[in-house]
Amino acid sequence: MVTTKGFVRKTKQRGAILRVLQSTDTHPTADWVYQEVRKEMPNVSLGTIYRNLKTLVEMGEVQELSYGSGYTRYDGKAHDHYHFVCEQCGRIEDLEIECMAELDREVAREIGGKVFRHRLEFYGTCSECLAEVQAAAREA
Ligand code: ZN
Ligand code: MN
Repeated sequence: MVTTKGFVRKTKQRGAILRVLQSTDTHPTADWVYQEVRKEMPNVSLGTIYRNLKTLVEMGEVQELSYGSGYTRYDGKAHDHYHFVCEQCGRIEDLEIECMAELDREVAREIGGKVFRHRLEFYGTCSECLAEVQAAAREA
């Protein structure tokens, strides 16, 4: 029963990847996920990680966040939420803002059609980076 064994292995790998992603709120890269999963499954390949991440995204279990070429991050929180990106340190913070559905309704009214989802990103300086900048300014 090679097929069943293969299926079980695949399911185990996918489960491990999902667990790793759900255990962090740092929105990691595929490479980081790979390093983490390897601690549990030393024989896993980077190709397997990429394939499973793609499947998890298609299944709606994981969100893919693209920030230009070669800068894709993954999010184990499947529900709709916004992100704040720090342009100094690159951290991505979750934002739970209530107005998401309201925005969809407003745009639907405007276009006279239906809105299924939208994407909105906030860019700036995070609180830690801001504190560093202010400390440096005080010393100068
Ligand atoms: Zn920062
Ligand atoms: Mn997120």
